[in-house]
Amino acid sequence: MTSQAVVQVENLSRFYQNQSAIKNLSFSLNAGEVLGFLGPNGAGKSTTMKILTGNLAPSEGQVRIKGFDIIESPREAKQQIGYLPEHPPLYCEASVDEYLKYCAQLRGIRRQSINKALDVSKQQCGLSDVGRRLIGHLSKGYQQRVGIAQAIIHNPPVIILDEPTVGLDPIQMRDIRHLIKKLGQEHSVILSTHILSEVQATCDQVQIIQQGELIYHSSIETLNLSQAPSMTIGLNQPPTIEQLKQLDQVTHVKAIDEQRFELFFEGESPAQAIVQQSVQQQWELYELIPGQQSLEDLFIELTQDETSVDPEVTNK
Ligand code: ADP
Ligand code: MG
Repeated sequence: MTSQAVVQVENLSRFYQNQSAIKNLSFSLNAGEVLGFLGPNGAGKSTTMKILTGNLAPSEGQVRIKGFDIIESPREAKQQIGYLPEHPPLYCEASVDEYLKYCAQLRGIRRQSINKALDVSKQQCGLSDVGRRLIGHLSKGYQQRVGIAQAIIHNPPVIILDEPTVGLDPIQMRDIRHLIKKLGQEHSVILSTHILSEVQATCDQVQIIQQGELIYHSSIETLNLSQAPSMTIGLNQPPTIEQLKQLDQVTHVKAIDEQRFELFFEGESPAQAIVQQSVQQQWELYELIPGQQSLEDLFIELTQDETSVDPEVTNK
């Protein structure tokens, strides 16, 4: 964790009766980052977000938003956050302007600043032309924009969006993703989703949650890399990383420890070259494991655990 962290979560747990919805989660988010919170239904995404935003008390652990503890200084902490809940409380019989004005008042924005706040949030969310329309008459995509507009009305440094593209058609999804990416330039954003491509399209960081536990965290850069073909090798007398990079087809080398390396490659597998070089240069190859599991494989495995549909059975 660095001093830059705007969100710091330490050892967070939440129990419902005897069952734990989330277990011992720790992570942090830096200024200007977009973090994708990826996991199947029931994994604990919404529970985490409710705790981060002060809408649910944790059973254990600590949340600090820009240094403010969500339990000890809830007012200050909540002031730093904009939140789009799973089921945003939109008032269908209100116009967009009426609703956003109401939200601005709830956020304590001063009367003389309210119009400006409305204009800015509508402009950012592409709602400038629909201020007078009734929310109930808008498409689902536009309703979602209204939900995001209320989240950013007080210009918070941190924006938390719970499955912002659920129930949208592909065009609406694309528009909302563009919007999130744009917001990410000036804010820190955490969004939850069960769609891997959404994370790749919008986020800098990704973490996967399964049955309440964080099982994966990485930058999108590493994630994209992990989907390139790779192999892990172990050498008793390894050369330098630079020398490994010289091998044909190898594009990138990551040291796992002093003797084990992950090699990423393009085209044909460099396995033969590795074996040959190892003999010639006496690297003493003792392990060669082809193909790392990609994040997509990993995620599909998780989701299948949840739904456990067996195509062999359903096809018969
Ligand atoms: P996600 O948002 O990832 O789909 P949730 O955070 O909504 O997951 O749920 C995590 C787990 O906690 C699930 O097993 C869910 O059934 C359980 N859960 C959520 N809310 C409650 C509640 N109010 N009472 C009991 N169990 C709950
Ligand atoms: Mg949820």
